[in-house]
Amino acid sequence: MSEKPFEEINKKTVYGPVKSWRFGQSLGIDPLFKTSICSFDCIYCQLGKIQNVTMERANYVETERVLNDYKEVLNNNIHVDVITYSGSGEPTLALNLGEMIEGIRLLSPKIPQNILTNATLLFIPEVRETLKSLDKVTVKLDGPNDELMRKMNRPAEGVTFDSIVEGILKFREEYQGELEIQCMLMPMLEKEFDKFFDIMKSMKPNLVQFNTPSRPYPSSWHRENRGNHELIFDYKVNWLKGMDKEGLERLSNEFSNKTGLKVLVR
Ligand code: SF4
Repeated sequence: MSEKPFEEINKKTVYGPVKSWRFGQSLGIDPLFKTSICSFDCIYCQLGKIQNVTMERANYVETERVLNDYKEVLNNNIHVDVITYSGSGEPTLALNLGEMIEGIRLLSPKIPQNILTNATLLFIPEVRETLKSLDKVTVKLDGPNDELMRKMNRPAEGVTFDSIVEGILKFREEYQGELEIQCMLMPMLEKEFDKFFDIMKSMKPNLVQFNTPSRPYPSSWHRENRGNHELIFDYKVNWLKGMDKEGLERLSNEFSNKTGLKVLVR
């Protein structure tokens, strides 16, 4: 349970730090903030139903506000191991994301900066350019074709599976840092695994992470769900049927045998 009251969490564009089993104290940066804004509306999203499903890039929150919230964390001597851009939706929709990355880099040059992105905007050269300065980029890929993407991720108009794959492949060619693929595996994927494995292999990721829904889907939007997974849900939620642990383990073994890639199961 977070020690901070909801009201306080909800006023800041910087949240956490959240304890991450892989990275230590991960401080979240929310470049969207005003409501939930994403180019996807995933059936399992921890934010609940996305309020603004869009491909429109804009300055959703002022860079200065984000940097001021970050300075407050520094002034309070809060220990941070890693910065993660994520928050209230798809962070690359923020036109001023690059300014935020640069500003925080100037304030804390030694803290690694990561991003969680759904890769829908990676086909845009400026977006790839912005993300190149990050230490780690984690892209979401939940299936091997347009049909499954539409079922799982319910994208904004104009998003296609091919444009996502093309964006990731281009980014891999240009990016020297660590690229991870995060997959939310659902039973509906079962017949498509071989094709999915091939596509992921072609992206040459440093790591693939297989997840299955372990948190409930909130029936309404709540900003406190950004990155904070330990809060008690005091509103209506739906539990989703994911894959069982044995199935996930079997799949991850099959995947690493076939592709030679490193895989993590969560
Ligand atoms: S991409 Fe992420 S933020 Fe957007 S709807 Fe899916 S899970 Fe939620």
